[in-house]
Amino acid sequence: MSLSTLDGTLHRGCGGRYALQTETVTMRLSGMAAEVTREFFRCEKCAHEQRTIEQRDAAEKVATELIRTEHELLVPKAIRQLRESLGLTVAQFAELIYGTPKGIVDGWEKGKYLQNREADALIRSLADRETLERRAAKAGVNLPVLDVAPDSLPAAGELPAI
Ligand SMILES: [Zn+2]
Repeated sequence: MSLSTLDGTLHRGCGGRYALQTETVTMRLSGMAAEVTREFFRCEKCAHEQRTIEQRDAAEKVATELIRTEHELLVPKAIRQLRESLGLTVAQFAELIYGTPKGIVDGWEKGKYLQNREADALIRSLADRETLERRAAKAGVNLPVLDVAPDSLPAAGELPAI
């Protein structure tokens, strides 16, 4: 289905025809807002409005990207990469973010949900080893042991900044 499926189609209720329109609205996601220009269809005769699933999805996608950029939130891939670099499952990672349901964390990684600023800060804080260990101890999560021999680890001064 394309965005223009309703364009020019008959509104059976009144005999008028739908035409493509745009509107600028404020969309709210996870407590944050963005101004988005989105498409919809309006009957030229009675002004009845229709919004297709594609139009709703497209507007939500634009809003998500605007909000993510404005608040400098992690992109889905960065969340997954951080979790994988720590050797944690989605369930374990979710436990460390104060027991966030793992379906939500999975949604963040897949771009299905947008984490709010608080959750974003919590996710970022796990890149800090001390914070990670403290949170893991509290949540009862066993962190994976580094499978690198100690003598092959770089000296403290050579550790890359995370
Ligand atoms: Zn109509």
